[in-house]
Amino acid sequence: MSDKALFHRLKTEIDTLPTVDIHEHLCYPEEDYLNMDVDFGRFLSGYTLDDLLSAGLEIPDILEYKNTQGAVLRINGKPLSHDEKWNYIKPYWKHIRFTGYSRAMLYSLNKLLGFDDLNDSNYREVTEKLKSLMKPGLYTSILKDTCGFTHILNDIDTMAEPGAYERMDRNLFKFVSRFRNFVYAYLPGGIRSLETTFNRPIRNIDHILDAMDEQFDRWKKDKRVALKIADAYLRDIHYEDSTRDEAEQVFNRLFTLRRLPHLEETLSFTEARPFENYITHRMLDRAEEHGFPVIVHTGIQTHMANELANSRAVHLTNLFMKYPGIHFHILHCGYPWVKEAICFAKQFSNVSLDLTWLHIIVPEGAREGLSHMLDLVPVNKIHCFGGDMLIPESVWGALEVARENIAHVLAEKVGIGHMTETQAVETAQKLLHKNAVEIFSLDD
Ligand SMILES: [Zn+2]
Repeated sequence: MSDKALFHRLKTEIDTLPTVDIHEHLCYPEEDYLNMDVDFGRFLSGYTLDDLLSAGLEIPDILEYKNTQGAVLRINGKPLSHDEKWNYIKPYWKHIRFTGYSRAMLYSLNKLLGFDDLNDSNYREVTEKLKSLMKPGLYTSILKDTCGFTHILNDIDTMAEPGAYERMDRNLFKFVSRFRNFVYAYLPGGIRSLETTFNRPIRNIDHILDAMDEQFDRWKKDKRVALKIADAYLRDIHYEDSTRDEAEQVFNRLFTLRRLPHLEETLSFTEARPFENYITHRMLDRAEEHGFPVIVHTGIQTHMANELANSRAVHLTNLFMKYPGIHFHILHCGYPWVKEAICFAKQFSNVSLDLTWLHIIVPEGAREGLSHMLDLVPVNKIHCFGGDMLIPESVWGALEVARENIAHVLAEKVGIGHMTETQAVETAQKLLHKNAVEIFSLDD
């Protein structure tokens, strides 16, 4: 039997496996999503937008384009027509046609709308077909029926409208919790926002710690499944063990600055760092006490320019050592420092690896990483799928790339005699479902 035939047999098996989607940002309840404007630009938003911008595309009002999921592109204050938008983006689309992000996008386009490409001859039809897809049941159709997800861990604390959680399918969606409102409470409006959320005055560190306790009670009541740290977008993820005294000095200085309320002055990131560190450690104390796994963004950041080195998993070493009772989940495997992340999962029993998003950032790198992981790391600590998407249409393409990658790597292991075909399928079941059910205590 040729390797190709083995790959196809494994891929066919993998296609049928129930899957836990470990990471999405699906922040719109379906009824809100169906009401949004939609055209072919939806396929040229999200991660493909990062590649378009990297290729040189300029979008003056980038936030509007992002918030409308590619529906509104405004130049000199005027929204471009459908045809104008295509002609504006087209030269850059040609440059990014073969990246990992584009491959995932084209898989979605093919599966959901039946097109192999996005080009001059079909962009109008793509819009029409996409519009016709926007019917009640869209989320179930894509996420459950097409993708086969049993659970989706949704990370939407910083982007969802109030009340969104209650309007989502709580059997399918499980939610992870951010705590930026505590760590960055020194930013303008931060203390007031905590006071409103917890309906109490916040005047000292003890008040913050009490609010944290209440926050954990709320999360437990809401059946949250993990905490998420995405600080690598804002600072390096090394959290020194700053003392209470240092944190208090920052907090007191904040109130000195705020004595002139019309100034709304705040502290710099450097000045406030001991406070951020102290609050993060107190959050982790509580995560350990309550048994919450902690998912940490590591590696390359989206949204273009950023300090890449801030995101290295190596910064987290002191946390892995200090909190043996916390299960740390290294999201994206710290790309480009994947081998470094793999070593942490080998060296620490409380660290696992997550190939979320990595599959489409660099499909070949994900395959190499997964192959190394299977050689180096106990298989119960490897998690193979999360789309990391804002919209359901994009999730399918990411899943398809992940399934291809897993089938390639397992076919290679079978081909060289390291495992049998049956063992390869059992391994895939762990990578896509069983490991996540166990670590996040999901109902099977
Ligand atoms: Zn994410």
